[in-house]
Amino acid sequence: MSVSSPHRKSRRAENSRGPKNAPDATLVEDVEPSGDIQDEEKPLRYIIQNLERTYGTPENRRGPRADPLNMLVQIILSQATSDTNSDRTFAALKKRFPTWDAVLRARESTLADTIRSGGLANQKAAVIRDVLRQIREQCGALDLSFLHDLPTEDAVRYLSGFRGIGPKTVACTLLFACRKNVFPLDTHIFRILRRVGLLPQKCTDARAHELMNRIVPEDKFYSFHVNLIRHGRALCRPRDPLCEQCPIVEYCDYGQTLI
Ligand code: SF4
Repeated sequence: MSVSSPHRKSRRAENSRGPKNAPDATLVEDVEPSGDIQDEEKPLRYIIQNLERTYGTPENRRGPRADPLNMLVQIILSQATSDTNSDRTFAALKKRFPTWDAVLRARESTLADTIRSGGLANQKAAVIRDVLRQIREQCGALDLSFLHDLPTEDAVRYLSGFRGIGPKTVACTLLFACRKNVFPLDTHIFRILRRVGLLPQKCTDARAHELMNRIVPEDKFYSFHVNLIRHGRALCRPRDPLCEQCPIVEYCDYGQTLI
């Protein structure tokens, strides 16, 4: 069941657009100069609320101080494969190499063979070893637990400094392991937010992360992230989205063009 909002902005209705003829101007960019962001938080709150009514309110069940380096490697392994497959690959990696030092000492080909079932094995093995090497050079030890105690901005800046680590990996590591308010965007989330009108049609990865970090309510980073992925799999599919069943159609520029 959806919750209707009396606050849907008239500009959004006036500017309703589909994916083909969408102008670059966006709700988020529109509000930047005037600081009018609070008005935008109202529909966003309703979007989050309707998604929670449909998909539940997911909670981060990892411990409050999960290991950020484990998480970073898990996120690298999760690229372009299913959750089940990447969990299996990570388990195989930990079984073969009990410590990160052992991973760093191993031949890259051995590491790639160990994670082969997760796909893109050569590429992922190279990234993992390169990141571990950089961490050891910078920290002196293969340990990122200090990230828990850094302010969010500093933690983001630190992880972003590594070669091969993009904004999504940084955000997933900090949100999942450290419970910091950093919003990760994957392909499902990009697609939905563009259709809804919360992101421009053309927007860099880094810019999109920055924009969402500014507007997602503090207590909703995890729930909104997980539910957008659920929504992208269930209804807002890449092709033929099921807008007629969608709990947020009222707030979606693309959905409004179909009504
Ligand atoms: S209305 Fe359609 S395009 Fe918009 S979020 Fe819902 S399923 Fe996706």
